[in-house]
Amino acid sequence: MENNFIQQMLVNFYKELDQILLPENAVTFNSPIPESSNPADKNISPLINIYPPRVKSTDFFDILHQVAGIIKKTHPNTVAEIDQIESALPVEPAEQESFVGKAFIPGINLLAYLQQDLPADTFGLLLNHTVKLFMRQYVEKVLPLVDTEDWLKGNCPVCGGRPNFALLEKESGGRYLYCGLCETKWRFQRLGCPFCYSNESQFITIEGMDKYRVYVCEECRGYIKTVDERKAGEDGVNLFLEDINTMHLDLLAISEGYFNKQLDPPPGL
Ligand SMILES: [Zn+2]
Ligand SMILES: [Zn+2]
Repeated sequence: MENNFIQQMLVNFYKELDQILLPENAVTFNSPIPESSNPADKNISPLINIYPPRVKSTDFFDILHQVAGIIKKTHPNTVAEIDQIESALPVEPAEQESFVGKAFIPGINLLAYLQQDLPADTFGLLLNHTVKLFMRQYVEKVLPLVDTEDWLKGNCPVCGGRPNFALLEKESGGRYLYCGLCETKWRFQRLGCPFCYSNESQFITIEGMDKYRVYVCEECRGYIKTVDERKAGEDGVNLFLEDINTMHLDLLAISEGYFNKQLDPPPGL
């Protein structure tokens, strides 16, 4: 099956990416000053807006070239494009710094910033995976600064991104949303659309795949894949892998006329 082949390729790709080690303090940010941190300020804006991550450009480009190497190895058809992109990247320290600063601003179009005609999909693949590696470390550091049980918004409390998956939790039956961009999970209301907040809830079930549902919204035509942890058995749920392994649910939703809202710019931009 072609889908299985693509999924296996992706799993190998992610395994390789997992081997990349970031320097311990690759990501820093201005810590909140204790006396000025007002509890009322908590949970208002995604953390990335309050505590912007800082990354040394030398570290960033070092990791970017490692990611480029892995993409070339696992996606051989992209070799020429990756080479083209790598040679178009800034080399002057000041330009590199400016590029890296922009890489962590949600919703910014870095391809337009480079002002060169580069293959957009491959550029996105390279940049997103590089940023993601740094975001992982950022999330580890900032997550204690947000109450993910109390956030209850349709966008990610850390990076502001849209969810790409939902989880119905085993213990409470509560619903959690998952950000594919920075891998943060936060609580959301049990029913209703996380994209437009419509209260109408409808879902598509898939024969023979009891643990999944695709919730769709007639209001904004968004959809969200959902896994029911109560039906997931002993192994539990790894949302990162669930997303890769359920590509057919995306195709199903899209063929029914719904859209992947994860790709929309975050709200407020
Ligand atoms: Zn996020
Ligand atoms: Zn909606």
